[in-house]
Amino acid sequence: MNRRFVNLLAVAKDKCDSDGLRLTEKRKRVLNLLIDAQAPLSAYEIKDMFTTRYSEDVKPMTIYRALEFLTETDLVHKLNLNNKFVACSQAKCCEHHGYSQFLICVQCGSVEEVAIDPIISENLVKQAKNLGCDIVTPHLEVACICKHCK
Ligand SMILES: [Zn+2]
Ligand SMILES: [Zn+2]
Repeated sequence: MNRRFVNLLAVAKDKCDSDGLRLTEKRKRVLNLLIDAQAPLSAYEIKDMFTTRYSEDVKPMTIYRALEFLTETDLVHKLNLNNKFVACSQAKCCEHHGYSQFLICVQCGSVEEVAIDPIISENLVKQAKNLGCDIVTPHLEVACICKHCK
């Protein structure tokens, strides 16, 4: 298992327990697939991997619902740049998830998640507010060439 995500399942369980949410077997499996993949996956890739690993044919809707739950709880993030999902690498127990910046390699598709300094994110919110906009996706996506592809 990727060391960055070693605690994510524990965090997921804690989060769900304290918020009265249920980490169902399907949600947990989807999270596990994303943790093991160590890379962003599309919903269909997840569906295929789910079927292969758990020998269970799932409907795309089931995967979408699980992903919706996982993104709402900040355990997984949706990347708009490539329409893929990635396991959170910044999750900590009992801590609110702040804004993250995602460095997405345009060549290999790998992603690094880094927390954004609260001062910067506050400014982003303020600027959006000044223009009358409410921020929907609280993260930044930056296309880059990673150190392995350089
Ligand atoms: Zn995160
Ligand atoms: Zn790369």
